[in-house]
Amino acid sequence: MLPRQSTAADEPQPYRYRRVELVEPDWRRLPGWRDVTDEQWRSAQWQRAHCVKNVAQLRALMGDLLQEEFYADLERDQQERATMSMLVPPQMVNTMVPATSGPMPAEGPAFTAAFYADPVRRYMLPVFSDRRQDWPSHPFATRDSLHEHDMWVAEGLTHRYPTKVLAELLPTCPQYCGHCTRMDLVGNSTPVVPKLKFDLKPVDRLDRMIDYLRRSPEVRDVVVSGGDVANMPWKNLEGFLSRLLELENIRDVRLATKALMGLPQHWLQPDVVEGVARIARTARSRGINLAIHTHVNAAASVTPIVAEATMAMLEAGVRDVRNQGVLMRGVNAEVEDLLDLCFALQDGAMITPYYFYMCDMIPFSEHWRVSLARAQQLQHGIMGYLPGFATPRIVCDVPFVGKRWVHQQYDYDQVRGISSWTKNYRTSIETGDPEALTRPYPYYDPIDTLPEEGQAWWRENADTERLNALAQQHAASSRAAAQAQASATTHTL
Ligand code: SF4
Repeated sequence: MLPRQSTAADEPQPYRYRRVELVEPDWRRLPGWRDVTDEQWRSAQWQRAHCVKNVAQLRALMGDLLQEEFYADLERDQQERATMSMLVPPQMVNTMVPATSGPMPAEGPAFTAAFYADPVRRYMLPVFSDRRQDWPSHPFATRDSLHEHDMWVAEGLTHRYPTKVLAELLPTCPQYCGHCTRMDLVGNSTPVVPKLKFDLKPVDRLDRMIDYLRRSPEVRDVVVSGGDVANMPWKNLEGFLSRLLELENIRDVRLATKALMGLPQHWLQPDVVEGVARIARTARSRGINLAIHTHVNAAASVTPIVAEATMAMLEAGVRDVRNQGVLMRGVNAEVEDLLDLCFALQDGAMITPYYFYMCDMIPFSEHWRVSLARAQQLQHGIMGYLPGFATPRIVCDVPFVGKRWVHQQYDYDQVRGISSWTKNYRTSIETGDPEALTRPYPYYDPIDTLPEEGQAWWRENADTERLNALAQQHAASSRAAAQAQASATTHTL
C-alpha cells in the first residue's frame, strides 16, 4: 500500500474544537471574599447586597491585588466617559481573571496587567485608558442610537418591526454593562449622561402597554425587557405576563435577562422557578412560545451555576434559552473567542447561540466597535463549526432600519467606512412615508479602523453640520441604487 500523500487535510483547522468542562472560579481567592460561604454565594440577596458599585468597594474587595493606577483610571472614566454607572454582581466579578486554568497572577503588576486584559472587565468595568483618545465617540453617535424612544407607541413600548414589539418594563438591571445600548434610559445618571426618566407610574405604564397590544392584532411577538426583568418583583412580572398570555394575538414571548448569567442566583430562587413553571404551563396550554433571551459576551462567564439556572428554566418549561451577545473589540471580536463562547453556551449550558450584535453607535463606544468588514469576516470565520440552528448570526442594528445580517448592505465605502442599508417594512414613525422603503440608511465604521485616506477625510469634515450635509449628499447619490434594489426585489417576488 502506498504511503498516504500529505494533503491539505493535514493542515490544522483554523479553529480546534475541544470539549471544555465548566468551572466556577473560587471567589475566596479575592481578599474581600475570603470568608464567603457557599450558602452566601448561592443567595441572590447576598449577591445583590455585595455588588461593586464604586471604586472604594472595588478597592475593599481587591485590596493590594490591583495597583493604584487602575483605580485612578477607573475613577477618571467614571467622571469623564462612563455612560453607565458601576454595578457588577459578585458572580460577574468572580469571572474576571478567573485563574481556573493556571495559578493566579501575583498581586501588583502581574494581576493588574491580567485585570486590564480581562474580557469581562473590559466591558463591565471600563477605564479611561481603554477608550480611544483620537475618536472617543463617532461624530454620528447618539444617546438613543436606535431611536427606540422615538418609536414608543406607549411609554416604554417600542414598535419598530411590523409584527413585534419591545416592552421596556423597567429602567434598571442587576448589572450595568459599559456598552449598554439603552444608556439613554437604563441605570443611574452619570456625570456625562443624565438619564431619561419614565413619567408614568409602573402600573399605568404596564396597563397602557397591554391596552396597545390588545388593540394591535398585527403584533404577535413581545420582547419583555427593560432593563432586565430580573429586577422586577416576580409577582409583578407574573401579573404582566399572565395578562400578555391572555391576548389572542400574542404567539411569542421572550423574556430578556442578562441576569441569567450575571446573577443566576436570582433565577434559582424557588419562588421564581415555581412562578416560571406556572407561566410556562399557561403559555404551552395556549400554544404560545415562551423563551428566555440572555446576554453573554465571554466564555469565562459561562459557569456551572449559570448552567444550573438555565437548566432550572428549561425544566420549568421554557421552550428555549438563547444568547444575544454583543461584538466588541478586546472582548470577543476574534473567531476563536466567539466559537469558544458559542461552545461553552451550547455544550456547557444548553443556551442556544443566537445573535451577536455589532456594538451600537452610542457615545464613547468607538474602542469597542468593529467595522462592518470585520463583522463580515467574523461571520465567515464561525460558519460550519456549530449546528446550523446554533450558528449565531452577526447583525448590525441600523438606525431607523433594524437588525440586518452583516452581509445585507447594498453599498459600502470601505475608505470612509460608510455602509448603506434599506428595509422592507415601515416602522411606527413612517406609516405615511412614501420613501421609507427606498431611502438609504447609513451606518458608520469606527474611524480608527479606516485606511489613512478615510481617517483624513473624517478629520477634515468632522464638523457635524458639514457631516450632515455630506450624509445627505451620500444618501442622494445612493438612492438610485436603493431604488434599483427595491425594484429588483419586487420583480423577484
Ligand atoms: S443588562 Fe442589558 S439593559 Fe442592562 S445594562 Fe446590560 S445591556 Fe443594558
